[in-house]
Amino acid sequence: MAVEFTHLSPATILGYPRIGRRRELKRAVEASWAGRTTTDELETTAGELRLATARHLVDLGLDAGTAAVPGSFSYYDQVLDAVALLGAVPERFRDLVPTDGPLSLDGYFTLARGEGDKPPLEMTKWFDTNYHYLVPEIGPGTPIGFVDDRVVRQFSELAQPSDGGQAVVTRPVLVGPVTFLLLSKAADDAPDGFRPLDRLDDVVAAYADLLRALAAAGAPWVQLDEPALVTDLLDVPFDEVADAVRRAYARLATDLSPASRADGLAERPAILVTAPYGDLRSEAGDGLALLAGTDVEAIAVDLVRGTVPAGPVTGLETKTLVAGVIDGHNIWRADLDARLATLEGLATLGAGAVAVGTSTSLLHVPHDVAEEPRLDAGLKSWLAFADQKVAEVVTLATGLADGRTAVADALAESTAAVRSRAQATGVVVPAVRDRTAALTPDDVERAPYAERAAAQQARLNLPPLPTTTIGSFPQTAEIRTTRAAWVRGELSDADYTAAMRAEIASTVALQEELGLDVLVHGEPERNDMVQYFAEQLDGFATTVHGWVQSYGSRCVRPPILWGDVSRPAPLTVEWTAYAASLTDKPVKGMLTGPVTILAWSFVRYDLPLGDTADQVALALRDEVTDLEEAGIGVVQVDEPALRELLPLRRADHPGYLDWSVRSFRLSTAGADTATQVHTHLCYSEFGQVIGAIDGLDADVTSVEAARSRMEIVPELADAGYARGIGPGVYDIHSPRVPSVEEVTELVTLAAKSIDPRLVWVNPDCGLKTRAYAETKESLRNLVTATRSVRAAL
Ligand code: GLN
Ligand code: ZN
Repeated sequence: MAVEFTHLSPATILGYPRIGRRRELKRAVEASWAGRTTTDELETTAGELRLATARHLVDLGLDAGTAAVPGSFSYYDQVLDAVALLGAVPERFRDLVPTDGPLSLDGYFTLARGEGDKPPLEMTKWFDTNYHYLVPEIGPGTPIGFVDDRVVRQFSELAQPSDGGQAVVTRPVLVGPVTFLLLSKAADDAPDGFRPLDRLDDVVAAYADLLRALAAAGAPWVQLDEPALVTDLLDVPFDEVADAVRRAYARLATDLSPASRADGLAERPAILVTAPYGDLRSEAGDGLALLAGTDVEAIAVDLVRGTVPAGPVTGLETKTLVAGVIDGHNIWRADLDARLATLEGLATLGAGAVAVGTSTSLLHVPHDVAEEPRLDAGLKSWLAFADQKVAEVVTLATGLADGRTAVADALAESTAAVRSRAQATGVVVPAVRDRTAALTPDDVERAPYAERAAAQQARLNLPPLPTTTIGSFPQTAEIRTTRAAWVRGELSDADYTAAMRAEIASTVALQEELGLDVLVHGEPERNDMVQYFAEQLDGFATTVHGWVQSYGSRCVRPPILWGDVSRPAPLTVEWTAYAASLTDKPVKGMLTGPVTILAWSFVRYDLPLGDTADQVALALRDEVTDLEEAGIGVVQVDEPALRELLPLRRADHPGYLDWSVRSFRLSTAGADTATQVHTHLCYSEFGQVIGAIDGLDADVTSVEAARSRMEIVPELADAGYARGIGPGVYDIHSPRVPSVEEVTELVTLAAKSIDPRLVWVNPDCGLKTRAYAETKESLRNLVTATRSVRAAL
């Protein structure tokens, strides 16, 4: 089939959720992992899902013939897809790759999930989203070629469907070569100084082969995602990134003859390069000018987070600008009138054509608001999930082409929704606003640490190297079943409370028997550390089918923070106080911090994030007071998401750290001098937040440290941190039980690099995902080891 040049559709989206409206892909993938179905059956289900999705997008108004529908399917992760495409498999998994053949689907999943003693590829956050990708490992000898033509086959399946039904000419979507390498890490055996970007020419050569194959299959367009251009956190200076982009796209766009050639000798589809998640332009350099200087046919810019210059951009006159005016990252209905004005204003850029698009893939939002019968009708009218966003894009494209009158009804509806939201009860609650407006710097200050430490010691009388846990105990199948039955209304409130109390009592008894010093209630009543709070706070709503892919087959349902936040009633006091009533040991109250609550919710944009954080912080502050009144002397406020919300540009860090640290302090600074405030951060590499950790002013900070052998302790000490520190002494991500010797060694190590009086002994993180057998044994070893180190102090 000869490729024919088609202009890019004036209405498109950068990607669509791939998990399925009812999480069909999740179910199919997990069934195949469990051996309940064959890989062939999985492939069939996935193929049906791709076809149904493409046709659904056409029904929603995307054009079937002009590459408007993105081919953005993935079985697990788009970065892992690129690894498979290139055959760039780490040494330890090389036996999975047949000579000259692609990785099988089972092999692909093995890279994601590990096998025996072979750890999977590491997982990390995708830009500033809650999606996690797998980190490729690239060394000088990693094989790199075009070995897997899955993308090409998926294109053909939809362009010539075997059922004879509606054909859809999709636009295959791939991680761009520069971003792929910038997100990779050097393979373990790579020599010092090697950087994955050193393999650019090999990766680009493989992509060139892929483009040839796509052209041969008749694909008119391909999309290469280069979000690495909107961040400066990847530790490669802009000049080098720019150089890589120029080299890569000279080979792909200039050296291969494009689909637009009249003689039909196209070697490649037309290329759309996207730069989602932020601003292409920064102090370091101008990514838009850079892309405009290449020979690609189209550039997609994020106009929700990013900006464009006011005047013409050289090179853009021959290209299509895909204007990402519909937010792919959040669930609010757009103000179409304002967005249309933005689109009209783009004329000054002098682009060859302007198409309407989403700012990012729609991967980060749920499928369809219409599937949420339980949401309040008013709230529903303010929301746009993926399907509603497609309609918004289509409307804007019509408005841009045919004028406002052509879409007058849709514009009026959108304006009415914006207006109704601004005026709705609960969006602005004067009492909440008055309270945040009255805050003073004193509200985030506690007494000096020395004074606090003395008062807390007098109250708690803890031994040196106190032992504790991070909060949750194993969430057994029984606990989950009980909670689910209660949610379905099959279990009465009284029976539910009794069951949770029994669980708390046995957790407390276990901790006493083990000899831990600061106990917890175990969190059996919490479905999720954010949802639990969102369900009880005013200003939040939760969904039934609002699933969003987090990684692989895992999905989350982020709460929707739509109004001013307040606490109608205590959130945790009942459970914590019950636990405290069962023991003479101190019991630690357990709260999720304001930054983490925001990071894992859909947040509002009509109020600065810092102000919303203050509202949440005040609700938590009241909870701390209520816990104190119930006799609780230790409170932990978890902030695992403090680092992950860091903006993608360094220049924005001070502003972010300012409000995030402040809101944490606001949530805790109401505590009495004798109340010990803990925080827990879920990682060991603090990077750019290391200074902020001290700023939180917690009395005790627990962090992950077991796998990095306590390295974080001297780092924190060097950064000036001199309050309690609980470096995790055992990795809770695996069922492995650490030996007494191991724990002894780690505790001794920690006590060497900081004042031993500051050291706490605890696991790396909560025990929720563990089983009781290994939990008991691990904690027993932890206590035994601590006692021996204590004796030697
Ligand atoms: N307190 C929570 C727990 O123990 C903390 C979880 C987390 O750090 N992500 O589960
Ligand atoms: Zn944690």
